[in-house]
Amino acid sequence: MRPIAAHISLAALRHNLQQVKRYAPQAQIMSVVKANAYGHGLLQAVQGLQDSDAFAVLNPAEAIQLRQAGIQQPILLLEGVFDAAQMRDVDTYSLDVVVHHSSQIAWLQAAQLAAPIRVFLKLDSGMHRLGFQPQAYAEALAQLEACDKVREIVLMSHFANADTATGVTQPMQCIQRLYDRLPDTLKLSQRSLANSAAIVQHADTHYDWVRPGIMLYGATPIASRSAASLGLQAVMTLQSAIIAVQEVAPGEQVGYGGLFTAERPTRVGIVACGYADGYPRHAPTGTPIAVQGQLTRTLGRVSMDMLAVDLTDLPTLGVGSPVECWGAQVPVDAVAHAAGTIGYELLCAVTARVPFTYHA
Ligand SMILES: *Cc1c(COP(=O)(O)O)cnc(C)c1O
Repeated sequence: MRPIAAHISLAALRHNLQQVKRYAPQAQIMSVVKANAYGHGLLQAVQGLQDSDAFAVLNPAEAIQLRQAGIQQPILLLEGVFDAAQMRDVDTYSLDVVVHHSSQIAWLQAAQLAAPIRVFLKLDSGMHRLGFQPQAYAEALAQLEACDKVREIVLMSHFANADTATGVTQPMQCIQRLYDRLPDTLKLSQRSLANSAAIVQHADTHYDWVRPGIMLYGATPIASRSAASLGLQAVMTLQSAIIAVQEVAPGEQVGYGGLFTAERPTRVGIVACGYADGYPRHAPTGTPIAVQGQLTRTLGRVSMDMLAVDLTDLPTLGVGSPVECWGAQVPVDAVAHAAGTIGYELLCAVTARVPFTYHA
């Protein structure tokens, strides 16, 4: 078998969920498990996140998988339904929905429901992605209040810049202004605003429901802080091994395009991991990687099935030595940073040909 695997630690998931509780002790926790639990495997990740108060997904299909696996907690559809027909799934599987657009209100009003549902009514507080504008919000709220298919309404918004020190100031003012203007009859009892970045550095945003995603998986939501410094543990270890060793003379090159030229006699290890496994092709020479627990660097261009690492100062290591592409020792955020992206993208992008192994 090709020596590559993604190892998933359920203990690390449990630990990171506890960290969310530590940061936001008053709030209920809605664990975000969209995108196949950020690439970790939906049903398995949810096992590690059992103590969550609720889950959030993107598609009814994911919510149905969770219900069929016996998940009892509330499940929120983060973008609501995409058409009127999906209201049937909302009803059958007792889902909560985001409402961010007036057509969703019409679908809700027209739906046949066995029981009224909970709605997260989304406000655009400045990100300009999804949600009602502040001027339109009270009207949408009044329509939902008047709708007998709605049991409860939560004010929801999402931050574009919670990863910066001052990034929630304006949206929080927008939300507060809206809230103050609402007639008393329309005041909402609950709010949900905070993603991971807001959870760790903006306690004033926590309110009733926090929505952690990336921090549960042990990667940082804030570029300037490491996951470890935030008390988070890596959940995924992308592991492989050295499958060949090359002795390269000074002046000779390594890999496609000859992007790395040896300046000294260089021992090059070839690792069974490439961009077709989800390792970023844009990771340049010098991207951190660990061989048998020793930190070293990649060399040259990442190819489809392989990449090269520097073993010059690790003479005892060779074919068969284990390689950590990212994980507890090499933060996925460090690999992402070298490749000009974020940990989120790498975690979501591990491909189907990589076998996943789950550890209690
Ligand atoms: C994905 C998502 C989250 C989680 O964001 P993280 O940065 O991963 O914590 C929270 N809320 C909404 C609406 C999302 O789409």
